[in-house]
Amino acid sequence: MKAFRYRLRPTKAQEAALTEQLRLCRQLYNCALEERIGAYKKEKKTISGYDQMKALPEIKEALPEYKGVYSQVLQDVLKRLDRTYQSFFRRVKQGAKKVGFPRFKGAGWYDSLTYPQLGFSVSGDVAYFSKIGNIRLRLSRPLEGKLKTATITRDCGEWYVSYVCEVEPQPLPETGSSVGVDVGTTWFAITSDGEFVENPRYLQGSMKKLRVVQRSLSRKKRGSGQRKKVKAQVAKLHRKVRRQRLDFHHKTAAKLVRGNDLIAHEDLNVGGLGRGNLARAIHDVGWGQFFQILAAKAANAGRQVARVNPAYTSQACHQCGHTCKANRVSQSRFVCVNCGHQDNADVNAARNILGRAVPLSQNVAAVSASVV
Ligand SMILES: [Zn+2]
Repeated sequence: MKAFRYRLRPTKAQEAALTEQLRLCRQLYNCALEERIGAYKKEKKTISGYDQMKALPEIKEALPEYKGVYSQVLQDVLKRLDRTYQSFFRRVKQGAKKVGFPRFKGAGWYDSLTYPQLGFSVSGDVAYFSKIGNIRLRLSRPLEGKLKTATITRDCGEWYVSYVCEVEPQPLPETGSSVGVDVGTTWFAITSDGEFVENPRYLQGSMKKLRVVQRSLSRKKRGSGQRKKVKAQVAKLHRKVRRQRLDFHHKTAAKLVRGNDLIAHEDLNVGGLGRGNLARAIHDVGWGQFFQILAAKAANAGRQVARVNPAYTSQACHQCGHTCKANRVSQSRFVCVNCGHQDNADVNAARNILGRAVPLSQNVAAVSASVV
């Protein structure tokens, strides 16, 4: 699967229609959430997304404005809520500390419509969406493969569409190399080959700028014109950081996939306990995206990705296996109290991650070369 994102150029009327559809979807999302909470409070009953989908025809009868939104788009709203619930329960089960309960979406917090299967097509620089019509699109790069889903997004007052397409895999020749990757907070990533990957300067620059503007926002008076202006500036910088980060993730993942047959990294879903701290929680989001891109590129190139349990990878000696806290002399230095092995602490962790994946890779079934 590969994603293609393009700028949309809706007319004023289409923009109004899109905005109204987003409003209806947000309302549906919030009502569905309220229904689930209510049913649980009153009768300890769990309503599934599937149950709620069955009620859609009734909703359309009672509120005819919902007939103006493509039916699968409405189903997708309920599926999103279902996914939010599932990930909430999964995190609770894993024992994560601060797990946010699914939230109501305020105005401006519901910004996309998904056509999960049907009701859309592209021809040249025209994108068609059922119940909206033909919208001009800026075809910045050719679309490849078979269209699977389409998501329209509103971003800082601009409109975009993202198509997920099924593309033919393009296997790369074997390299005979494998690599372990440890993600960090000081460095973006450290490999078992001893490579330190830094966030690029331009990204660091815009992140710094964003922090400055955010601070200035917190000093502006609520409801003032100045505040509104700065708020728009913050949103734009956020978008810039997001784009630069995405681009950097693509480049970093492509390099790892080109150079290695097997790439091992920690399984973020198993993390939590022991390794969890605030700094990591903030970075988790970025790593999740990076690992998703990596998995997609690997699958496309016929490479393997192994996700390993990261417990104690930073305390275990890669040489003799002795595991204790004292091995880690400082943030960056590792000296084994048992065998005296010295290494950079992050490189030692990356080697352990690779070490955990190699026995797995002999059993291909255990290696998850998953597709996003
Ligand atoms: Zn040792």
